Amino acid sequence: MTPFIAPGAALGVMGGGQLGRMFVHAAQQMGYLTVVLDADPASPAGLVAHHHIQADYIDQEGLTQLMQRSAAITTEFENVPADALMKLGAHRPVAPGAEAVAVCQDRAAEKRHFAGCDVPCAPHAVIEDASQLAAVPEALFPGILKTTRLGYDGKGQVRVATRADLPAAWMSLGGVSAVLEKQLPLAYEVSVIVARSAAGQVVHFPLQQNLHRDGILAVTQVPAPDLTAALQQRAIDAAERVAESLGYVGVLCVEFFVLKDGSLVANEMAPRPHNSGHYSVDACDLSQFDLQVRTMTGAPLVAPRLHSAAVMLNLLGDLWFAGADAPAREPDWAAVLRLSGVHLHLYGKATPRRARKMGHLTVTATTAEQARAVALQAAAVLGLPAF
Ligand code: ADP
Ligand code: MG
Repeated sequence: MTPFIAPGAALGVMGGGQLGRMFVHAAQQMGYLTVVLDADPASPAGLVAHHHIQADYIDQEGLTQLMQRSAAITTEFENVPADALMKLGAHRPVAPGAEAVAVCQDRAAEKRHFAGCDVPCAPHAVIEDASQLAAVPEALFPGILKTTRLGYDGKGQVRVATRADLPAAWMSLGGVSAVLEKQLPLAYEVSVIVARSAAGQVVHFPLQQNLHRDGILAVTQVPAPDLTAALQQRAIDAAERVAESLGYVGVLCVEFFVLKDGSLVANEMAPRPHNSGHYSVDACDLSQFDLQVRTMTGAPLVAPRLHSAAVMLNLLGDLWFAGADAPAREPDWAAVLRLSGVHLHLYGKATPRRARKMGHLTVTATTAEQARAVALQAAAVLGLPAF
């Protein structure tokens, strides 16, 4: 078991994106020093960490520095090579561990793992090479073809209407290992975040209800407006089983579909804090990043409590561009900051680009109705669609 790593020690994180930045904020609040490994000199987390190692995830010298400077190491990016985590894990506590991250990196392994935990997932077939295209069951059409590895924010996936479209769709993804999933009739989407300690203690957040636009998370609402208590419990139980059977240490997010017939189907999981959990910074007494710090340092885990209803709106780079050819301009932040309960988070990214996650905004309120009403006002002010 990990001995408690007390504040004053340095904590390392693989990856310098916004998740790393919020991890750094949480760690610093508790008095830890922070070390970020990311090749980008202007990475959101690198900009705020005590020490920024500007190197790639596979750079031996960078990894050695990270190991030497950190008392424990975590990750904010799900595609760090499991190999690198394995090497670091030989010298330092690494949470989550290499094997758990390896399962989450591979959609086929992930689905096998769900099945092994009695957690239903979408009917699917794995396609490793062209000879397997013809063997795909008819029942999977219309489907969604997803690369087995490296997909995110709807990237690395295409819709496939019929069997005749499959070969071209697979080639459009580069002919790499892929999973064809049946396209399911979704009623809505939810996610659950759990944290598990090295001692095997597990805590969870309430379920988040998530709205995606173009494959990218757009809106998260907590409490989840459409969810029943029974379904909520089933999702939490499923996520905890998945974490336990992975021997997981750290923060884990499992995404679920709720189908039109009311059934619950696991979609995918992330071995790190998740965009749908950002609301926890402002609406819970412990955030997902606080729990990331606690799990990696062997600190006691305490169940987080939702003290406010919350609606989170993602702020993509599109907001900086009024029209198709318009030059970038800063959104009218003062207008949203006038609304009560608005918490604005910007990640310090210098260049806005369409579909790039630039920040988010969380509205907290006493009731879900109030949070939603203010979030709709904020959306209108910024030019985001209603939800
Ligand atoms: P990413 O890694 O990009 O988040 P996901 O597998 O979560 O990829 O897919 C992104 C979104 O696409 C989902 O949140 C959901 O809205 C939609 N989607 C994915 N798989 C299916 C499916 N089998 N049936 C219906 N919709 C799906
Ligand atoms: Mg997803």
